Amino acid sequence: MNLLIIRLLIFAVLFYAGLKLYSLYRQHKLSQQKQPPERVEGSAMVRCRWCDVHVPESEALRFEEKWFCSSAHRERYIQEQKDRDPS
Ligand SMILES: [Zn+2]
Repeated sequence: MNLLIIRLLIFAVLFYAGLKLYSLYRQHKLSQQKQPPERVEGSAMVRCRWCDVHVPESEALRFEEKWFCSSAHRERYIQEQKDRDPS
């Protein structure tokens, strides 16, 4: 009688361990699938606000959420903004 209880306990433990392992395996699979594709840094192209030329984000200059291909174009844009709204 005691032997039967021990067997049942062992079976229960093995069953529980199996379920645990299965859930861990599923979580691992899901986390692998959820990973976003690797982003290549500096590959994004942005447009120069002044001359509409496309330049890599890493080489572009930024001013108030706007992108520029060179500091000259950035200065010209800033100057134009000043001329338009002198305040
Ligand atoms: Zn430009």
